[in-house]
Amino acid sequence: MDYRSKQDLTGRLALVTGAGQGIGAAIAEGLAATGAEVICTDILRDRAEITARDLRAKGFKVRAEALDVTDGVAIDALAAALPPLDVLVCNAGIVTNTPAEDMTDAEWDKVIAVNLTGVFRTCRGFGRRMLEAGRGSIVNIGSMSAQIVNVPQPQCHYNASKAGVHHLTKSLAVEWATRGVRVNAVAPTYIETPLLHGLESQPGLVSRWLEMTPAGRMGQPHEIASVVQFLASDASSLLTGAVINADAGYTCI
Ligand code: NDP
Repeated sequence: MDYRSKQDLTGRLALVTGAGQGIGAAIAEGLAATGAEVICTDILRDRAEITARDLRAKGFKVRAEALDVTDGVAIDALAAALPPLDVLVCNAGIVTNTPAEDMTDAEWDKVIAVNLTGVFRTCRGFGRRMLEAGRGSIVNIGSMSAQIVNVPQPQCHYNASKAGVHHLTKSLAVEWATRGVRVNAVAPTYIETPLLHGLESQPGLVSRWLEMTPAGRMGQPHEIASVVQFLASDASSLLTGAVINADAGYTCI
């Protein structure tokens, strides 16, 4: 068995949503560094281009496109304009902190639209082309917040959306299992990205989280990227419908 070649993505076409910063940018780098041609997308093309430019400067084959994951028409148009993807990573996500009793319909709807409906529409649009080609690996970015409630942050919309992503992943995996398309998810712990900015305004929050984490630390974006790279590659050929906890042990206790 040639284990090294199983991880190689040379000749594969990959697309990452929300790739302009944070975990998505690291995922784009991980895929590109192992040989894939990567399309970085973000709601703002300029932001996707920042990542793409950085990776091109490192010698990787990367380009940028605007893609709002709530826009099903734009998703289907981009899917039609591209060859079938080999790898799709649904990473774009948003969060706000609002107690349930104060949450407006608009705030609930927005988070569900990006985090859950956006993942469905992206999987549906690009997944159709993958099914036609009879091959592909989809990786959705869930969260440990799908399994535990992230105290003391009031994020019921976010937690529900990520639980939906995990079960959507399993549902698509079962539907597409015999047609060459694998669908898996990664459930990260707290990862140091702009999504967590503003924590300094909540004294003691980070130290409380670290006390609750067996490994006693947060994660870095590249530590999620390497799990995604594994799921994108043939090294994970038996995995579909899996949700991999990348959480430093947080959900074990
Ligand atoms: P960031 O906020 O750093 O990056 C997310 C990117 O997605 C931003 O560029 C954002 O743009 C973009 N985006 C927002 N809305 C849309 C949209 N409608 N269409 C396309 N792109 C959009 O987040 P992270 O890198 O931290 O998170 C990435 C994923 O990982 C998310 O799904 C998140 O829920 C998940 N995750 C993160 C954790 C963490 O601790 N950081 C923990 C567990 C899961 P803009 O900034 O303009 O909104």
